[in-house]
Amino acid sequence: MRTLLLCAALFCAAPVAPDRSESLADAYVEAVEALNAAHAKKPKAKNEAELRERLPKKARTALENLLELQSGDALEGSLARCARAALDVDGVEDFGRCRERLAQLDAKQAAELGAALSRERVLLLGEGGLDEDYLAHFAEVFEGVLAAYDEVFGFAEYSKVPGKKLRVRVHLEEEITRPPHFAPQYPWHSEIDFPVIDAERLRSPTADGKFLFYGLCHELGHVVAMWGSRTNEEDHHAWAHYTGVAIVEHLAGSKAPPAWLADCKDARWRSLTAERERLKDTAPGGTSRDAVLARLFALHDEVGPRAIGDAIDALDEEDERLRVNRVRYYTFDELEGALVDGTKNKKQRARIAALFE
Ligand SMILES: [Zn+2]
Repeated sequence: MRTLLLCAALFCAAPVAPDRSESLADAYVEAVEALNAAHAKKPKAKNEAELRERLPKKARTALENLLELQSGDALEGSLARCARAALDVDGVEDFGRCRERLAQLDAKQAAELGAALSRERVLLLGEGGLDEDYLAHFAEVFEGVLAAYDEVFGFAEYSKVPGKKLRVRVHLEEEITRPPHFAPQYPWHSEIDFPVIDAERLRSPTADGKFLFYGLCHELGHVVAMWGSRTNEEDHHAWAHYTGVAIVEHLAGSKAPPAWLADCKDARWRSLTAERERLKDTAPGGTSRDAVLARLFALHDEVGPRAIGDAIDALDEEDERLRVNRVRYYTFDELEGALVDGTKNKKQRARIAALFE
């Protein structure tokens, strides 16, 4: 009898009507995905504000209707999905509206979404309790580092997809178990994963000796260029170390140092000068990390970092080098070619070529 009742209950249960919030969220999230996918394939919009304007009216209306819904079993989840999708087009305002509405229903889920702050070249995401104030502080550091990259190397492209801002996901941890890293898996933008242990401001090195500031400078080097292929790391992980120490040292030598630099003292341990000294007896080459580093330092002295930046830009303009998940991969052969092409001085051409033998 019990079995019969159970079967009857299963048979008779009214079909669950799809929650309206879910179909509204689908409409919005899928439109954002389609927009980003089309842009990644063929970037047309100059920036994300322009991209956002291309979001179909139907998708915007879906979001408005979702925000007005009073109830629904899946409403919280739908709001969270739309909040995240909004950030995929740098829509911090829509993110904020979704989060605010979610907070009325479920404060914990809203807090889990974290905070977001958008600046001209970067979208910062704060998790684990980091708020917009923290992100504003972090943005100063990040923009200072980017400005230093501009001054030293002058790379034209940072994000792997033109027009898409960089993302930095800053998360507060009890302890740092994984250093900052470039996360290449995101399909539409370049993102750096950045753990911190101090919710007040960025202090580096940390008490337990983690060079977070150098780490940030280093990871931007990876964002700009990867070397070899997915299976063959041609630079033996030297490139990002080179750009990282070059930027740390450049900032440490600022004539008018920004206030935040007082908390970022990595240059004492991580600098071009210290590395140069360590490698003074290492011959430039391509077979080990130190040999590649010595080669990069020798190029730095021979042509200057600006010419290295120009060579990378020239390769980007041709856009024929390898891309893996849209991340730009270069080879030293290509760099040599671009550097040689970058100078008319015959003797210097020969000296450049010698560093790649
Ligand atoms: Zn690295």
